[in-house]
Amino acid sequence: MYCALYRKWRPLSFDDVVSQSHITTTLKNQIIANKTAHAYLFTGSRGTGKTTCARIFAKAINCLDMHDGEPCLKCDICKQADNQSLTDIIEIDAASNTGVDDVRSLKESALYMPEQARYKVFIIDEVHMLSNNAFNALLKLLEEPPEHIKFILATTEVHKIPPTILSRCQRFDFARIKAKDIKDRLMFIASKEGFKLDDDAASLIAKLSDGGMRDALSMLDQCTAYSDEVTVQTVSTAVGISGKEYVFDILEAVFDSDAAKAIDKVNELYSMSKDLQRLCEELLSQVRNAMLIKTSSHAEELIASTPEEYGVLSELAEKSTLQGIISKLELLEELNERLIKATNKKIQFEMGIIKLCSCEETRRIGSDHTQAADLKPLLNRIYNLEERLNSAQTVPIQKNEVRRYDPIIPENQTSPEKPSADLSKVKTEDLEPLKNWRDILSRLVEKSPSTSAFMTDSSAYIYQNTILIVVKNRLLIKLLKDHVKALDEAITETLGARFAIRVRAVSNEELKDEESPVNKLLKKAKDLDIKVEVNK
Ligand SMILES: [Zn+2]
Repeated sequence: MYCALYRKWRPLSFDDVVSQSHITTTLKNQIIANKTAHAYLFTGSRGTGKTTCARIFAKAINCLDMHDGEPCLKCDICKQADNQSLTDIIEIDAASNTGVDDVRSLKESALYMPEQARYKVFIIDEVHMLSNNAFNALLKLLEEPPEHIKFILATTEVHKIPPTILSRCQRFDFARIKAKDIKDRLMFIASKEGFKLDDDAASLIAKLSDGGMRDALSMLDQCTAYSDEVTVQTVSTAVGISGKEYVFDILEAVFDSDAAKAIDKVNELYSMSKDLQRLCEELLSQVRNAMLIKTSSHAEELIASTPEEYGVLSELAEKSTLQGIISKLELLEELNERLIKATNKKIQFEMGIIKLCSCEETRRIGSDHTQAADLKPLLNRIYNLEERLNSAQTVPIQKNEVRRYDPIIPENQTSPEKPSADLSKVKTEDLEPLKNWRDILSRLVEKSPSTSAFMTDSSAYIYQNTILIVVKNRLLIKLLKDHVKALDEAITETLGARFAIRVRAVSNEELKDEESPVNKLLKKAKDLDIKVEVNK
């Protein structure tokens, strides 16, 4: 019968346990000095050796020929323990259905002396899963522990353990196993098992397993099912990290600020039924990798990727500043949150991608004329104003506000295609901002959700019979042209009259002015009729 590698190579003595010497040494010393505790709590993420150490400890304190705190592995007790037939070592999985009942019968079982061994050892795995009643039963035993009993509680989620239990246990925190230690162990096992494992492949598995030996060995198992010669390629195929080119295609476009290309890629994936939430997470994880490359001198050890992917990531990191990468991470995290709640994930996603493509440029212009240190209080105030702006948006349109924008030229004399003036060169600061713009956008949501979603960063101005819409991204001009009918309707319905519509992209100069935090604040304040004093 085939035995999984992680079972077959589970350490039988403390010295075989990898990366946890701070724990194994202490335990051995306690055993040698005969000063073991009644109850232990082993915490740490999965695959770090908690259950393994619990079993070794149970053997060592009962071993008939213990040496230096280690079990002999040869006596009757050790042998029975290793083939799990020793009735005095009782393992309870609190996560299983029977776990709770097992703990209830613990009390009864604890009354009896061990059958063969010196101590009865209860190992309770995933102890945080116990019910309150079960915890209470356990607590009674921990309060007055019988001499012949030892408890080892193991958990991945120590914060879920009641303090009354915690305070009665000696606690050991199992660290994630170092990638180097996992790699060495993999190479050792491969040599014993007689298959070829490439150095690079072992490193890759070690990084992918995120500090868990069990996961690392399961991956190695998967790889050997493919081939006796495990290479990086085998690992990529077997554990499914290959075929991520699309993630890098999107990121390359994003780092080149090429929104059109990025959106094309997203649409391509969307039409292939790619889950957008998942895609967002993948983008997040790779941008995080780019950040590591930018900041860490040993990023290669931290990132689970093929050498080719690492090359692409390095190029991406090269293209952006650290601040630029962090901005992208923040935008992606925001997008990830939004996607969870979004009714139309595709619109949110496309919006997020456009923001990602423009964040570098905005940041660069913004940093030209203001020192970062000065920004914080201002940004906070802008944030507060934005909050108020957002809440103001939900107020229904007042009739008298609509009146203010009654067109100067009656509808039947002006078609939307004939504007009253050439607005392409007029400075927006000379124009009157259109106060109902947010209301128009809200109305546009019903008619053309995607257009509306892309316009959240736009602004609009009114001049005679014309509405000038200024968008941040040139791409949006084309998009709006395709949806001018919906926009025209939204404007007419909101303002009660038709207007000519003109769209242009914000000029670099305007972007500079607008992105200066002071101006941004003043503009927001003006929109809201809030008076702001600026000390110069
Ligand atoms: Zn023994």
